[in-house]
Amino acid sequence: MFQVNENYLKLPGSYLFSTIAKKVAAFTEANPEKKVIRLGIGDVTQPLAPVILEALHKAVDEMGKTETFRGYAPDLGYDFLRNAIVKNDYEERGCDIAADEIFVSDGAKSDSGNIQELFSADAKIAVCDPVYPVYVDSNVMAGRTGVYSEDTQTWSNVIYMPCTMENGFVPEFPKEAPQLIYLCLPNNPTGTTVTKAQLQEWVDYANRVGAVIIYDAAYEAYISEENVAHSVYECKGAKTCAIEIRSFSKNAGFTGVRLGFTVVPKELKCGDVSLNAMWARRHGTKFNGAPYIVQRAGEAVYSEAGKAQLKEQVAYYMKNAKAIKDGLKNAGYTVFGGVNAPYIWMKTPDQMTSWQFFDYLLENANVVGTPGSGFGPSGEGYFRLTAFGSYENTLAALERIQKL
Ligand SMILES: *Cc1c(COP(=O)(O)O)cnc(C)c1O
Repeated sequence: MFQVNENYLKLPGSYLFSTIAKKVAAFTEANPEKKVIRLGIGDVTQPLAPVILEALHKAVDEMGKTETFRGYAPDLGYDFLRNAIVKNDYEERGCDIAADEIFVSDGAKSDSGNIQELFSADAKIAVCDPVYPVYVDSNVMAGRTGVYSEDTQTWSNVIYMPCTMENGFVPEFPKEAPQLIYLCLPNNPTGTTVTKAQLQEWVDYANRVGAVIIYDAAYEAYISEENVAHSVYECKGAKTCAIEIRSFSKNAGFTGVRLGFTVVPKELKCGDVSLNAMWARRHGTKFNGAPYIVQRAGEAVYSEAGKAQLKEQVAYYMKNAKAIKDGLKNAGYTVFGGVNAPYIWMKTPDQMTSWQFFDYLLENANVVGTPGSGFGPSGEGYFRLTAFGSYENTLAALERIQKL
């Protein structure tokens, strides 16, 4: 009889979003006259910008003619896209990243889940708590995380770095040195970030202890403050210790289009083994390239018109973020985030647990958010609202919350 990968059996069920969906369905069934507003979604809602549509249409037409038809894309991405990334995301921010250090992919979720394959089976990982679940679960599947405790909701072989209002949501260096450190900045779910000086300390730490930072910069486009780094490579020494993962999902609305990339610098080595060469080998074996049509759409993101249109799209969501943050503050709540990310992270009032506040908000304001405890034990007592809804719905939701 065949045997399965038993590591999969260790995964606790991810009940967060299915529990939310069930609770909302039960509520709407019992209260059909009430209009529920969802501020829990982590997905964009604005349509693709005109310049992206134009690029997609043009590329589709090319695929219909013999002379311009394209088959398999180069494994690592088309040069037109990799060069646009180098110029716009790196050169213009003073980062020295070359096109052959860019690996184009179908998105940041796959890359952030797959990157752990490059490291040894016993590599110890460190994650922020609360955290984007992909980082931990992909390491569980690889058998790296030890035993799960229902009590503490933690894995025995994972280092958790609590990010709470007490430490300003800035993780502290762990007592025991990890081999891999996952940092998502600006952060999902807390909506907070760190200064460039604080990030530099993490880069210095990683170089000192010989760790690799997996830097998820999916929300880079939402940064509004001057002293926040857009790329980890703005920090000195990052090329010897950091892999950066980027996505077109949140800055350009590609959640359904699918495009991302990962940067693995050539200077990033273990002895004389190059992680860049290893990732190229992995990509070439397990991935057959992002679609030509989609890579052309990605190129359009970096055109002058693309930059202008997407700046507007990001500004639309950030107007929602500001409305939520200011509105909640005025109503007396303690709120974080919403300045460099489209997420608002609030403290639940009156010592309520995250789930108690979820129920309270659903029943009394008919507003849906996400319980912070679903992202890790240190998320207990917090609640996430997203700025990805429509402006009208966002304002309506706030009005209801303010009346509570
Ligand atoms: C949304 C998100 C991503 C983006 O994933 P894609 O696969 O590119 O859509 C990556 N990381 C975090 C933390 C996210 O919230």
